[in-house]
Amino acid sequence: MTVFGPDYGFGLYVHWPYCSKICPYCDFNVYAAKDRDNAPLIDAILKDISAHHQRFGGAHRLDTIYFGGGTPSLLLAGDIARIINHAQSLYGLGEKSEITLEANPNDLLGADLKSLHDAGVNRLSIGVQSLRDDALAFLGRDHDARTAVQAIESALPLFRSISIDLIYARPGQSSEDWSNELNDALQLGAPHLSLYELTIEERTAFGRRAARGDLVPMEDDAQADLYELTEDITRSAGLLAYEISNYAASPDYQSQHNLIYWRGGDWIGVGPGAHGRMSDGNARFALEAPRRPADYVSALESPGTFAALETALSPLDAARELLAMGLRPAEGIDRHRVESLTGCSLDSELVERFEGAGWLTQNGPVLALTRAGRLLADRIAAELAP
Ligand code: SF4
Repeated sequence: MTVFGPDYGFGLYVHWPYCSKICPYCDFNVYAAKDRDNAPLIDAILKDISAHHQRFGGAHRLDTIYFGGGTPSLLLAGDIARIINHAQSLYGLGEKSEITLEANPNDLLGADLKSLHDAGVNRLSIGVQSLRDDALAFLGRDHDARTAVQAIESALPLFRSISIDLIYARPGQSSEDWSNELNDALQLGAPHLSLYELTIEERTAFGRRAARGDLVPMEDDAQADLYELTEDITRSAGLLAYEISNYAASPDYQSQHNLIYWRGGDWIGVGPGAHGRMSDGNARFALEAPRRPADYVSALESPGTFAALETALSPLDAARELLAMGLRPAEGIDRHRVESLTGCSLDSELVERFEGAGWLTQNGPVLALTRAGRLLADRIAAELAP
């Protein structure tokens, strides 16, 4: 049995770090787009894909490509096509390979969707965030609800799958408000939803407002109630939680790319600050590209340079990561995979205690979180960690 690596999926993540406006809750590696020349960064990304090919070989075909960010929908379809074609020429792509673009509703309305589709994109993950204009203003988004709905409606007939991102558990949001908003979103007919509770990160504008007392985050219990309500509503609409924050109408619509992360597959990460994981036999490598776009571009100036910082994970670190990620999807994780890395069994008494508390199920060696357990995923993974 392989423990991690491409048997669990092989993907390419492309980080495009620019956004037209920086949202006050965002702690990603992002920069204001302004009037930049995109060419040097696109060239660096192409070189980085080649450098990974040289470093790790190209024995496996790509199951997925994911353009994330930042706002990769700011890219022209022609640039997206260049990146996809380059990856395809080195690694190959199958008929079923999933190619996702994260997209801002405003960009989609202004874009030639057919060109995006012709470039190879077959799945859009649309950053709707809310279907209420007051909430969109609070979240600092530069689109309104009507634009979001129009973007979804025009994209649905063209792409194999559409996902909508929404942020809930906003300060002062009632169960009724969220229930109505979520039902409105479900009416739009997208087969995949990513529903995230608003988290206030310290080094963001919201973090600074919260520190001053100008913004009061929703209490944990109220958030947990909304989480359960979310699952009830999505389930009755036929979308099941296949991961803590992700809901799909059937396995065909689950994000194949994100499943690679959760299942312990391999992925190349290119673009400023992108993270990757690659396996070489029994060794597992964590890779991290230079964070600042200018550093990334200059690190990749000479062809053949491998710019990512490469760290060999110890078996213990690899086991901890596998467990923490593997508990996230509803399918759970085979404990033998974790145990074979450390040579020690997980604490069976603790597993049984969590099972008794209704947080975990055991099906043979497979451990999976229950709905109540999903609310405590980080704590359970930390306590079970070898
Ligand atoms: S658009 Fe997305 S990535 Fe860009 S700042 Fe807003 S939340 Fe962050």
